[in-house]
Amino acid sequence: MANDTIGERLLNVLRIAKGMSFTFKTMFEKPITVQYPEEKRPVFPRFRGKHVLERYDNGLEKCIGCELCAGACPAECILVEGADNTDTERYSPGERYARRYEINMVRCIFCGLCEEACPTGAIVLKHDYELADYNVKSMVYTKEMLLVPYVLPDGTITTESGTVAERVAAMMDRADSELTRAEDAVGAGTRG
Ligand code: SF4
Ligand code: SF4
Repeated sequence: MANDTIGERLLNVLRIAKGMSFTFKTMFEKPITVQYPEEKRPVFPRFRGKHVLERYDNGLEKCIGCELCAGACPAECILVEGADNTDTERYSPGERYARRYEINMVRCIFCGLCEEACPTGAIVLKHDYELADYNVKSMVYTKEMLLVPYVLPDGTITTESGTVAERVAAMMDRADSELTRAEDAVGAGTRG
C-alpha cells in the first residue's frame, strides 16, 4: 500500500466510493420482507411441490398401479402395490389399481420424474410447499393423504379410497338411518 502510485490510490478510492454508493442506494429502498405465513409469495407455474393422486370427474382414481413412477424415481421413495379391479370392487377404470401407494417425502428431491413417467396423469406435483413436520414417520405420505378429495352427490367431501358406488351406497345408508331416526321421533311424539 505504501508503494502504491497515486493512480492506484485514486482507483482504490473510486472502488470504495462505488461500493458505498450501492450501500447508500439500498438504505433508502423499501425492504422486501414477506410476512410469512400470513403472506405467501406466488410460486412459478412449473414449481414442483407436494404430490397429489388425481381422480377422474366420476371419482374413479387415475392411478392404475403400474409402478412406472416407482421405477423412474431416482430416490427410490415411491412404494406401489397394485391389485386387480373387479366388477363389484372398482377403483380405477383399468384392470388394476393401486391398493397401496406411499411416498417417503424425506427422500423425495422433487425432480418430477414420477409425473413424467405416469401414463395416466395420476401423480402430479402441485404448488403446496408447506411440508415441514416434527415427526419423520409422518413424512411417509400414504395413498389416503395423496388422493384428492371427492365430493359426493350430497356435498360430503371424502378422501376415502373406495369405489364410487360404495361411497354413494354409504351416503344412502346415512340418509336412510337419519330418516328412520326422524320417523321414530315423530312416532314417539304422536304416542306421547
Ligand atoms: S419427485 Fe422425483 S424423487 Fe420425488 S417421488 Fe417423484 S421421482 Fe421420486
Ligand atoms: S401414479 Fe401413474 S405411474 Fe405411478 S403407479 Fe399410478 S398410474 Fe402408474
